[in-house]
Amino acid sequence: MILDGKALSKRIKAELTEQTAAFTAETGIVPCLATVLVGEDPASAVYVRSKRRSCKKIGYESRHHHLDAGITQEALLQLVEDLNGDDAVHGILVQLPLPKHLDADAIIDAIALEKDVDGFHPRSVGHVALKKPGFAPCTPAGVMRLLEESGINPSGKRAVVIGRSAIVGLPALLLLTHANATVTVCHSRTSREDLEELVRKADILVAAVGRPEFVPGEWIKPGAVVIDVGINRVPNPADPDNPKGMLVGDVAFATAAERASWITPVPGGVGPMTIAMLMTNTLIAAQRTAGVA
Ligand code: NAD
Repeated sequence: MILDGKALSKRIKAELTEQTAAFTAETGIVPCLATVLVGEDPASAVYVRSKRRSCKKIGYESRHHHLDAGITQEALLQLVEDLNGDDAVHGILVQLPLPKHLDADAIIDAIALEKDVDGFHPRSVGHVALKKPGFAPCTPAGVMRLLEESGINPSGKRAVVIGRSAIVGLPALLLLTHANATVTVCHSRTSREDLEELVRKADILVAAVGRPEFVPGEWIKPGAVVIDVGINRVPNPADPDNPKGMLVGDVAFATAAERASWITPVPGGVGPMTIAMLMTNTLIAAQRTAGVA
């Protein structure tokens, strides 16, 4: 069966729209997400546009800061400080990657913890590790929500996460561990032989590598749950002249789908859930300022 992140994300956003209307009517507060985009990276611009569109649809205020690629570290830090101090702003999202001359870690560190709706701040990740309230990074949080809403309980299951990045693999390990799965993390130094052996035993596979169809479908354990986080653009064999190509995940979908009990499509699986979780976190951040969450 397909784990339809697009449909679930639509439902979550519809619920958020209702909750936001009630919250704003009760408190007079309009949740506000500030987005910061530096430079002209086309993919980043698309991501920010789609986040802003979601804000507007739900009833949030979307405040956008589009900065010149040459902005200095000091000026960007000052903007983050200003947004931290602005009571009308509840969430701050600095779109990554930043141009090379900027220190992205220092910028993310500067975001006030209670406004870190992306969940990228080191202390947010620490809170996830220690099961303290806070914001988990949106992509792995979206993976967990997708499992939960589909009635898939990781407790006692063998989960394999491929990838150990700070924004996907590592927090996925933490969240699955808290959900009582037995988790193994594979990464760039894991041998292909070990990877195959572990994937073949996985009840739940989370692939976050960034390599097209890196996991052959034949490796999937019959009945396993496959969560494909990867988004890779490759040439489209049906339309080879189209420079846009097509998107595929980290798992060979067609063959994996024959063996899996549940599988996420790419696109339309984890991607939309990431935005749904960002929107969820923004409302929670606003509710917390009003003392109602
Ligand atoms: P990353 O490059 O930071 O991390 C990739 C990870 O893959 C690393 O931890 C590395 O150890 C591991 N890896 C590399 N080669 C490997 C190998 N041969 N065997 C096993 N592991 C290997 O990437 P990321 O930010 O974690 O993103 C991973 C993928 O997920 C990308 O395709 C990205 O576009 C996608 N992504 C999707 C969403 C979404 O909303 N759906 C969000 C974030 C990332």
